[in-house]
Amino acid sequence: MTETSQASVSRNGDIMKLTVVGAGTILPARGLSTSCHALEIAGRPVVFDMGPGALARLALAGLDYRDIRTIFISHLHPDHTLDLVTLLQALEATPGWSRTETLTIVGCRGLKTFIAELLAIFRDALPQSYALEVIELEVGRHEIAGLTVEACLTGHTTNSLAFRVETQDRVFVYSGDAADMDAMIDIARQADILLCECSFEKGYPTTDHFTSDVVGRIAEAAGVRHLIVTHTYPATDHDRIRADLGAHYAGLVTIAVDGTVVKC
Ligand SMILES: [Zn+2]
Ligand SMILES: [Zn+2]
Repeated sequence: MTETSQASVSRNGDIMKLTVVGAGTILPARGLSTSCHALEIAGRPVVFDMGPGALARLALAGLDYRDIRTIFISHLHPDHTLDLVTLLQALEATPGWSRTETLTIVGCRGLKTFIAELLAIFRDALPQSYALEVIELEVGRHEIAGLTVEACLTGHTTNSLAFRVETQDRVFVYSGDAADMDAMIDIARQADILLCECSFEKGYPTTDHFTSDVVGRIAEAAGVRHLIVTHTYPATDHDRIRADLGAHYAGLVTIAVDGTVVKC
């Protein structure tokens, strides 16, 4: 029995299934594609970020783009957003099918203008048969599309957000791109899963991303049950990252690559 399946039988209620659709950054690398993560809640995928190629990789992961009801966008960098318009076009171009269900896209400040400008360029992607709801999330707690969601600023860009999603008995936190350690410790408190960016190894000079020692300290201070590391740059050494994390955090660690699946 794996550690993750032990976790799944230790408590009652819904099981969260996370598929790391893209575990990388803007830089091309085998197995580390641009950001996209799908969390299946009650059998439906909730998507966190949609970098270029995400639509195709969702299919490779066995997830149907037509089943997506809610998408969270952490910030507006292209490695987190470019396949939004590809998805909207696909929803208009599927033979023999038309969407009627509302699609909700939730994210950072500036998201409404961003999507409006995309649709002004790619006019064939404009929704015809369904409602597109775009929500710019304020910092704090909200009820969104049937989910309890908390957001905080992460210090990567002026508007970048992390998301905490709470179901009846599970807590999932996604950092997006992030640099504010204290904010991440707070939003990740007692999370069942912390899906956290870890762009670089300990010692790499950066002011707008986390390094592996910082991520380990966050996971330990927040008391998370399972730390999943994503958004690693191609040159990072995953063995070194694991060692750096382990120097601070004694819990369960998964270093994600494209296609990693975790249940909790
Ligand atoms: Zn990024
Ligand atoms: Zn970014």
